[in-house]
Amino acid sequence: MEHILKLEQVKKYYGGAAGNITKAVDGISMEVNKGEFTAIMGASGSGKTTLLNCISTIDTVTAGHITVNHQDITKIKEKDFASFRRKNLGFIFQDFNLLDTLTIEENISLSLIINKANPSSIERRVHAIADKLGIRDILSKFPYEVSGGQKQRCACARALINEPNLILADEPTGALDSETSRQIMELLRRLNQHGISIVVVTHDNEVAAYSNSRYLMEDGHLKAVDG
Ligand code: ADP
Ligand code: MG
Repeated sequence: MEHILKLEQVKKYYGGAAGNITKAVDGISMEVNKGEFTAIMGASGSGKTTLLNCISTIDTVTAGHITVNHQDITKIKEKDFASFRRKNLGFIFQDFNLLDTLTIEENISLSLIINKANPSSIERRVHAIADKLGIRDILSKFPYEVSGGQKQRCACARALINEPNLILADEPTGALDSETSRQIMELLRRLNQHGISIVVVTHDNEVAAYSNSRYLMEDGHLKAVDG
């Protein structure tokens, strides 16, 4: 099986020098195959967000190697982070991370605009994705005018606009009610069935149930979960 993501002895320590060190991620190795839907479970404070931030190049590792799509991201230069993310990754966060002063449509298309894509092709791509995600009729609204579920659909659309190989989701349903959570997870399942690999971190067993590969994180360590 070809992997989309590979971690080798990844460590992320915070602090140091005078104070005490937090070993947020402490020697994690794992592989995610292409097309896999992986869940990383674990209690609050176990290091899930830190691990995801290292994979997403938001944070740098203390030691170890992370390979995304056969590229060692610990060797990417800082000036190349943005283009690496744009080409390979989509992000979904618990609190949506939408820009309040932009419309839903602008939030979705922002990375294409920054990248100076052709305006008519931007519109075509945004509308195609918005149709698929059922948010076409709210494109001209602002985030404060739509529901939490619609915001997260917008965030999913933004994650998809560059056709990423891998979607990283950090507690994607953490701010949603249970029915809306199910809808978002069904959406992620559909995307996965269309070939996008997904890594979701969560403390919620119901969310993890959508995955086909599960891990448990405890104090910076990771172990595979059977079944
Ligand atoms: P989770 O997402 O599983 O709740 P985190 O990755 O956010 O866990 O945190 C793991 C550990 O690392 C916690 O002890 C947290 O306090 C610590 N930590 C996270 N980010 C930082 C930071 N920027 N500086 C120092 N410690 C941090
Ligand atoms: Mg977290």
